[in-house]
Amino acid sequence: MKEAETNEAGLAPPLGDMSAEDFRRYGHQLVDWVSLYLERVGEYPVLAQVEPGRLRESLPQSAPARGESIEAVLSDVERLVVPALTHWNHPAFFAYFSNSASAPGIFGELLAAAFNVNGMLWRTSPASTELEEVALSWLRQMMGLPEEFEGIIYDTASVSTLHAIAAAREALDLKIREDGMSGRADLPGLCVYASEQSHSSVEKSLITLGLGQRALRRIETDPEFRMSTEALARAIAEDRRAGLLPFCVVATVGTTSTSSIDPVPEIANICEREKLWLHVDAAYAGSAAVVPELRHTLAGSERADSLVTNPHKWLFTPIDLSVLYCRRMDVLRRAFSLVPEYLRTSEAEGVHNQMDYGVQLGRRFRSLKLWMVMRYFGHEGLAARIREHCRLAQVFARLVKVAPDWQLLAPVPFGLVCFRYCPDIAGEGDAERASRLDALNERLMNAVNATGEAFLSHTKLNGALALRLAIGNIRTTEAHIQRTWQILNEQAASLG
Ligand code: PLP
Repeated sequence: MKEAETNEAGLAPPLGDMSAEDFRRYGHQLVDWVSLYLERVGEYPVLAQVEPGRLRESLPQSAPARGESIEAVLSDVERLVVPALTHWNHPAFFAYFSNSASAPGIFGELLAAAFNVNGMLWRTSPASTELEEVALSWLRQMMGLPEEFEGIIYDTASVSTLHAIAAAREALDLKIREDGMSGRADLPGLCVYASEQSHSSVEKSLITLGLGQRALRRIETDPEFRMSTEALARAIAEDRRAGLLPFCVVATVGTTSTSSIDPVPEIANICEREKLWLHVDAAYAGSAAVVPELRHTLAGSERADSLVTNPHKWLFTPIDLSVLYCRRMDVLRRAFSLVPEYLRTSEAEGVHNQMDYGVQLGRRFRSLKLWMVMRYFGHEGLAARIREHCRLAQVFARLVKVAPDWQLLAPVPFGLVCFRYCPDIAGEGDAERASRLDALNERLMNAVNATGEAFLSHTKLNGALALRLAIGNIRTTEAHIQRTWQILNEQAASLG
């Protein structure tokens, strides 16, 4: 009787978890709410229109002493949390690299939370260990990568790249794992090479690994923002002459600012000749390789030692899920495996224990959502969606190209368009024009974002502020592209 009363009020029982009956009732309500949210997400302002601190101030400073009903909690989610969301699922989210939580991916997250397995050892979750192997083998085949690449899932590309560079360092056999790096007169300065367009995660990896920011050689790029291989070869030779030890090159397929593609085949030649570890950062654009006619964008990557791709960017998988493929998993394992007594198992020889492949011990069941996404959409369905995003990017690029006061600032190989508004003023000097256009485009971006109808971000290209429109959300249609172009023009006209 008492329990029935508690259930009716939707409160937690004195001990134990929510009753199955309440879970079912509120679970159904929540799924109804989520399906409506996803159906109408395009009606919310895409960029949160709140002042900093608003959510924090609207919530109590301490947790409640006595539990509250789930109804009360869900009502606060709707009333307080949702208005403070920037809606990444909005079809006009075009900032950074847009992404999507597709329905099968959301189901995968729900199930992973319900199973709550910790896949540190094979025996602590055979399902997550083996499903990860299956899902990553499927993805590898879809991307046309060779069989020698084994995969492992981490949370983000930053962490995948950190592990790749740690493996590259381990491959040097300099006993850094045992003796560290500090105070060692026998250790030459180690150098890593990446283009000046490479992602900041490369530099952060070097900070984290104790190599230091100065270990990074930022290699210049050509006019299309691709790494110059002459400059790379020169930098390696100079470092060798100075007694330093080059050991790793990070090439990018789909750079963050413009989605440019480094010349990986030539970089692979240099790495082979110089015996350097080649890591390919395909965090964004790796997904494009599932489209047969775009697979060539990964050319040369089959020769890499490691490659990162993020299904949570452009493969409709909810954040977070990053995949590191590596052809030298034994080296990655050597860098990180450390087995305390309580984690020793009898089957250790015959199976993968995923804790051996990184810093973290515990790991959640991320592969489930990726596997469900691949099964639900199929290779063809995934390819069709990515192909359509690339088509939409071409549609937008064409609108920019033919409009008199607008300019395209980089090639458009995938779903990202870099552009700016650049009306002329007669008699203006170069420096004056450059700073006027930077300020104008920043105001334009802020004005567009303030409409709540679309969300763009920016970058700097050759010193000039560029607007970025990144298409990657599963709900984006041509109507959203056309409407965003209209808003850009309306706002540009009102700024003068
Ligand atoms: N590499 C590239 C090319 C990126 O564009 C990004 C993020 O946009 C990253 C790495 C870092 O990704 P993550 O947020 O998964 O660490």
